[in-house]
Amino acid sequence: MTKKDKSALSEQPGVSSSEITNTSAVNSIKSKRKTALDTEAITTAILNKEITALSRAITLVESRNPKHLAQANLIIMACLPHANKSVRIGITGVPGVGKSTFIEAFGAFLTGLGKRVAVLAIDPSSSVTKGSILGDKTRMERLVKNENAFIRPSASGESLGGVARKTRETITLCEAAGFDVILIETVGVGQSETTVHSMVDFFLLLKLAGAGDELQGIKRGIIEMADAIAINKADGSNLKQANLAKNEFERALHLYPERDSEWQPKVTLCSALNDDGMDTIWDMISEYLNITRQNKFFDKNRQEQNKFWLLQTIEDRLKASFFNQPDIKKELKIQLDLIEANQTTPFAAADHLLKLGKSPH
Ligand code: GDP
Repeated sequence: MTKKDKSALSEQPGVSSSEITNTSAVNSIKSKRKTALDTEAITTAILNKEITALSRAITLVESRNPKHLAQANLIIMACLPHANKSVRIGITGVPGVGKSTFIEAFGAFLTGLGKRVAVLAIDPSSSVTKGSILGDKTRMERLVKNENAFIRPSASGESLGGVARKTRETITLCEAAGFDVILIETVGVGQSETTVHSMVDFFLLLKLAGAGDELQGIKRGIIEMADAIAINKADGSNLKQANLAKNEFERALHLYPERDSEWQPKVTLCSALNDDGMDTIWDMISEYLNITRQNKFFDKNRQEQNKFWLLQTIEDRLKASFFNQPDIKKELKIQLDLIEANQTTPFAAADHLLKLGKSPH
């Protein structure tokens, strides 16, 4: 751990000597010192690639206890100078497309190349379904046993914004722990792909070759976000259909305007079940990295993502601190009833509520 890291850690809520007036103050100082020691020990262990420490820090990030969150923030700050060195890859696709099987195969391929791979997930539905993505680690049997892989199920229990923050911070921790590739899985429904897209370098869409028009039912937005489309289950009797689907997607992708990254998205086939096509996909990602590092898009994109997350965090916190005020909760209900009774307008009600709300700081 460098001097700078240590000074980041020592910037804990201050303890002045005048505080030592009674036993409870002494105990409080002891407890603060203990936390400082813990924090330093956890950070050092993370930088030494110790997985238990990494898991512990992620548990702090996911905690609802403000003390844990404060400790998590200190660890993240100390880890930050050591982060940023991985490749972050988002993987999306509808349930059943083969995401888990793919991550298992791709993860094994990457660790075979000597890389250390962390697998995270964003699944806002997990609060309801109790962790549908990666919740059941038996789905990734091989990777679970692989000492160069780390799998962490999606944080659960709150909004997409909350889950997203935790995943962003977990990326930093995993990078500090020396993971070279971070795979972030999400289901291809709702807003979660947009969220994952805003925290990765490369976005891979998994598709199936199906009957009928391949392009139907696909949200245009997802295609626009995808840096590559992999048609999975291209095996056995499915291979011919998969090739047809590939051609169709290639044609469709050419219709989109050139991107800032100067990268032309590609379509490829794979069979996650048979470990086929993993090398092609990695070559493709490596080519993307070469191009975007050379033309500086890679760094620019990460900077833009950081700016986006700064604004997003402010928005989330302002909203939460507004809506959690007891007076607002009570008055909001009244205003909603008034709207239903046609006795006020949405704008007048909003004005009223905003005037009533306390400034968060
Ligand atoms: P997820 O819901 O997207 O995570 O999908 P899963 O990885 O759980 O896969 C759903 C089903 O598809 C499982 O029964 C897998 O064995 C199967 N599957 C996944 N990849 C392939 C593949 O490449 N070929 C074939 N034939 N089946 C696959």
